Amino acid sequence: MQAQGTSMKVDYLIVGAGFAGAVMAERLAKTGQQVLVIDKRPHIGGNAYDCLDANGVLIHPYGPHIFHTNSDKVFDYLSKYTDWLPYEHRVVGVVDGRLIPIPFNLTSLEILFDVEKAARLKEKLIQQYGMDKKVTVLEMLKNTDSEMSELAEYIYKNIFLGYTTKQWGMSPEDLSPSVTARVPVHISYDDRYFQDKHQYMPKYGYTKLIEKILNHSNIEVILGKDFKKMNAEIDYGKLIYTGAIDEFFDYELGHLPYRSLRFDFQTYKQRRHQSNGQVNYPVSNDFTRITEMGHLTQEIGCKTTVAIEYPIAHLPGVNIPYYPIPREDNIRLHERYINLAMEKAPNVVFAGRLGDYKYYNMDQATAAALVLAKNIL
Ligand code: FAD
Ligand code: UDP
Repeated sequence: MQAQGTSMKVDYLIVGAGFAGAVMAERLAKTGQQVLVIDKRPHIGGNAYDCLDANGVLIHPYGPHIFHTNSDKVFDYLSKYTDWLPYEHRVVGVVDGRLIPIPFNLTSLEILFDVEKAARLKEKLIQQYGMDKKVTVLEMLKNTDSEMSELAEYIYKNIFLGYTTKQWGMSPEDLSPSVTARVPVHISYDDRYFQDKHQYMPKYGYTKLIEKILNHSNIEVILGKDFKKMNAEIDYGKLIYTGAIDEFFDYELGHLPYRSLRFDFQTYKQRRHQSNGQVNYPVSNDFTRITEMGHLTQEIGCKTTVAIEYPIAHLPGVNIPYYPIPREDNIRLHERYINLAMEKAPNVVFAGRLGDYKYYNMDQATAAALVLAKNIL
């Protein structure tokens, strides 16, 4: 407890209590450093925060989160702080009035086309790309075989174009190819959304997981504190900043573009509302997907809550910068901010999805934080 009027002294001030900030705090605290973590929100967990809604259903207010990773290192590290519930995410999409598995796979093909055509296309897909292989839709569009390119056009038009335009406000070609490559066409009957080695939900939720990571005698957490509104009350050696880098520099080099979201949570008096954890609406409606929380958390009660996701423009200071927009020009602007940081703020390390301006999943945010902490130490 600090005396009134005096400033608090720590080795590290970490801005942001999401995965990146919490993992960095734990790593530094373990070596005896005094760490203060602040977050402008009234809770820890960042965008992975979960809590009970008014109906007692566990929800993710900033969007449904499913943990998946191929990294044993990340999985082992996080396993120290949580037990897990096995969960394999399976997504369907409404296409041509039917529900098909997404990513598009051989089952999707057989649902959408007549038996003969599906068999012919399947044979060609296996011949050209190989069974159990994945191919991105943008790669597939380059195929010169007329039936293959017709199929690629169909997939592009019915699964990617509308969804991507809603989600990002631009078409797939205007984004880094890595964005649509997250959901490649899968030449297989494996209908899981992710193929990672480890696929789980934290048994007691993400907030509890982050709470345990932060539970160290060398870590103090202050919530509801915005770094941008802070005065000299905290005396720190080094600053780790997991907020938006352009905001940190008061947009000196211009605004880095982000995409925001609006969530509409609906609760139904039934055990389950939809067949799958996630149903995508690639062509119809203003929303992109509806996720039923109970499928993910595996809670079953007399009520169930779904999250309907509406992508919206990001307005700095008004709504949340949920997604960095991966494009060459934006990545170059971020690099200019990093150069500015070296020149003007050599004492600050930027990290996390917003500091690095990278489309990190939780495991990637964790992995990057583990590496960064090691480098700092
Ligand atoms: P964040 O979680 O954003 O934490 C940053 C924190 O910094 C925030 O709490 C913020 O309040 C705080 N902050 C910012 N500026 C300031 C300031 N000036 N002062 C004080 N505090 C500040 N990943 C998966 O692996 N699986 C999924 O299924 C998945 N689904 C997702 C769904 C959605 C809709 C979104 C948006 C993301 C999803 N992710 C998913 C990605 C996941 O949310 C991120 O990888 C992870 O949360 C990144 O952690 P972080 O600590 O970098 O950032
Ligand atoms: N995508 C699409 N149609 C779909 C699913 C995904 O066009 O049915 C594209 C879209 O551009 C999306 C990207 O693939 O933003 C990545 O999808 P993912 O589900 O990984 O997005 P996230 O969960 O990160 O929002």
